[in-house]
Amino acid sequence: MEWFTLPRAMQFVIDDVGWWRGRDDHDKNGPYRTNICRDHCINDYVALIELGKRLKMRPLCAFILCEWDKDNILRQCPTSQWMGENWVNDIPAELMEEAADLLNANSDHIEIGLHGVGHEYWHPETGKGERAEFADNNGNMRPEEEIRKHLEYFGKLMDMHNLGPFPVSMFPPAARYRYSPNKKGLGYILSQYGIKYLTLPINITWTDAPMLAPTFSVEHNILIIDRHIDMYDYNVIGPTDQMKQLYKLTNTVIGMHWPNVLHQDPERNLEIVDKWVEAVKTLENDFGTCLAEDSAHAFSQEPYRWGTAIWIEGGNRLVFDFKRVDALKSKSSGILNEFYFKTKVKLQEGMHNGIMVSPPAIQGDRPFYLYKLKRIEEGSCRASVDLPKMDDVSPLI
Ligand SMILES: [Zn+2]
Repeated sequence: MEWFTLPRAMQFVIDDVGWWRGRDDHDKNGPYRTNICRDHCINDYVALIELGKRLKMRPLCAFILCEWDKDNILRQCPTSQWMGENWVNDIPAELMEEAADLLNANSDHIEIGLHGVGHEYWHPETGKGERAEFADNNGNMRPEEEIRKHLEYFGKLMDMHNLGPFPVSMFPPAARYRYSPNKKGLGYILSQYGIKYLTLPINITWTDAPMLAPTFSVEHNILIIDRHIDMYDYNVIGPTDQMKQLYKLTNTVIGMHWPNVLHQDPERNLEIVDKWVEAVKTLENDFGTCLAEDSAHAFSQEPYRWGTAIWIEGGNRLVFDFKRVDALKSKSSGILNEFYFKTKVKLQEGMHNGIMVSPPAIQGDRPFYLYKLKRIEEGSCRASVDLPKMDDVSPLI
């Protein structure tokens, strides 16, 4: 009987958060935005926060920040928006301030990620908008100095509203990205700005290097996690068949876009949030999955799932060998010292041999125990947990 596992730790990645206008202006050389029939509002942030609160998670929201520019500083970064040096943002500053206060007061329930400044790239000479902000449709990256400028302005816009620190997670706009082992590539630049996690649909991303493992890779200190598929199109608002769609996911990322958690009538947003909460909670009932508290824990779990060897020694000791994980740890500072462990038997909480066992959490209706195991001993790739005497082990299932 399989009675323990390192579960897949599920995390939301929600793109295109941050637009205030909803309409698609790309046929007028403007942005695509979220392409919904209304503008965004405070209630749309309440929806994201409630999602996090109700599931005890911090959904990763990949932000676009150009419409948060209350001082029109993006005139100095003309390739990041559709008006160039004549940029005027007409969104009322009070709206941004109210949303920023809400986000700051609820940072335990939402995680701000980097998506981009304006999502696309407006050519410096012609002013023409091209897909996408950091790389083109063939995966070729934009000029290095432009990328650095966009990242700096993303940081300035965060600072304008005290939304910092700069994110550690990113989803590249329109998934335009190319792996590059050299120090001229986008991965290297992003790592210099502190990005540690990237999610990407690996099957459609240009690659110059083979993946390290089926679900992840490492590039310039960044842990790249496969996002695989999204359940809905980017502009689908108010979906209600979450339960059915969710089971299409085969990896750790619950990938979607902002409209997918909203209702056409913002007063009714929480009806859609409820649908998500109800569906996602069922994942806790799967022995092989759990809900991650944040991106770092979700994405760091993948190398542990791939590289941890576990066996029982002497009938009463569960031994963990992290040799393969530690070989990657030196290349990726996003790999944490702790990981999720799910069992059908209760472990003794507290300190074991190089591992601290957290108090158990029971997620879902079924009696699995979810533990966070924290590695304590530095420099040793082996640790163990003492099991209860086998007579005392009473499997729950
Ligand atoms: Zn996007």
